[in-house]
Amino acid sequence: MGKNEDLFIRAQKTIPGGVNSPVRAFRQVGGIPRFVSRAKGPYFWDAEDKRYIDLIMSWGPMIVGHANPEVVEAVQRAAATSFSYGAPTEGEIELAERICHLMPSVEQVRMVSSGTEATMSALRLARGYTGRDLIIKFEGCYHGHADSLLVKAGSGLLTFADSTQNAPSSGGVPQDLVKHTLVLPYNDIAALEEVFLKQGEQVAAVIIEPITGNMNLIKPLPEFLSTLRQLTSQHGSVLIYDEVMTGFRVALGGAQSLQGITPDLTCLGKVMGGGMPIAAFGGKKEIMSKLAPLGNVYQAGTLSGNPVAVASGLKTLEIVSRPGFYEQLTSQTEQLMKGLKLAADTSGVPVSVDSVGGMFGLYFADQVPRSFEEVTQSNIEHFKQFFHAMLNEGIYLAPSAYEAGFTSITHDSEVIEAILAAAQTAFKQLARDLK
Ligand SMILES: *Cc1c(COP(=O)(O)O)cnc(C)c1O
Repeated sequence: MGKNEDLFIRAQKTIPGGVNSPVRAFRQVGGIPRFVSRAKGPYFWDAEDKRYIDLIMSWGPMIVGHANPEVVEAVQRAAATSFSYGAPTEGEIELAERICHLMPSVEQVRMVSSGTEATMSALRLARGYTGRDLIIKFEGCYHGHADSLLVKAGSGLLTFADSTQNAPSSGGVPQDLVKHTLVLPYNDIAALEEVFLKQGEQVAAVIIEPITGNMNLIKPLPEFLSTLRQLTSQHGSVLIYDEVMTGFRVALGGAQSLQGITPDLTCLGKVMGGGMPIAAFGGKKEIMSKLAPLGNVYQAGTLSGNPVAVASGLKTLEIVSRPGFYEQLTSQTEQLMKGLKLAADTSGVPVSVDSVGGMFGLYFADQVPRSFEEVTQSNIEHFKQFFHAMLNEGIYLAPSAYEAGFTSITHDSEVIEAILAAAQTAFKQLARDLK
């Protein structure tokens, strides 16, 4: 028995499922999760000292590469002066200023410790600001695990006037909470128009992943976003862009800078902490001033604005702000996607690809999907076989067909060539098994 398996068995005795976040357990793909011992640049090593090229990068945060020397130095310096004070620091102001500068829709920002806290707090704020209860989310979008966001619709989406149709997608979530959440299909303009026509005056907020990364990568249609912005403005509902994944990953100014949309509130996480547990929500000053201590919407955190996490975030944002960073990241990612598509085509395996900045989608389907329904039609069996063939070759993809992939600036041509060589082997093997 290998060391990874040893650790997995041991972990399951004291940690439910052996993991501290469910997808890590390899349930969709089967097999033994790799226990990481260390990482550097685009690589990590598992408990058996096998090296992998990482295409998850901690689900996005490690955009400047693992153990980036500049970030490590900044974190070490901060750590040497204690880890937490529970009192304000100058670093928090610098990080807030940098975020507001990079994302002009964010006039004020509040720091929290996870993306879940950011979306949960943004919703409470939107409800407090509007005095309304109803929120709208889109099918297949993930916004962390706050109760009112763990909802997916029943199949009859067009009967959304009857919101009791929504069923929680998790145990432990009361139906009473879920009735305030409407779920609509992503990219469906007609559904959006209909719900606003019927219930627009009750909608506190619409929350959206402006480019989704939690049902694989799905891009929004420009008319869908412009309709969304127009309807929310017209009805006084707060438009919340959940950029926890896309912020500083798809572009320096996030998805909103690529789309020319100004949301009312934005949620951030992942890249903004460079791998440390820090996240944020921010937006219009008029809305943000409803937060305690100024307003009556309560929100707090013992470790919020943690100085070590702030140091990591500040240095990471400084590095990504350097000229040419996103051009290089985008071009490397495109090179990877082009090569993967070519390798699949050569072997005759139906695959499509898409990417934006340092985020990519690899779909076992003829066409790039545009909705949750289309994503779920991709071939999971093909994905599983490909996943394990790649893992065997030392390439670590997300262990689920419904997750996006992530590159870093350290995924240079040499690293990409190594991934593509492995992919050629994996696709050939898959094609042989399909015959
Ligand atoms: C990861 C993610 C979250 C949740 O962030 P956590 O830090 O895991 O709580 C929320 N929204 C989106 C879009 C995410 O990708």
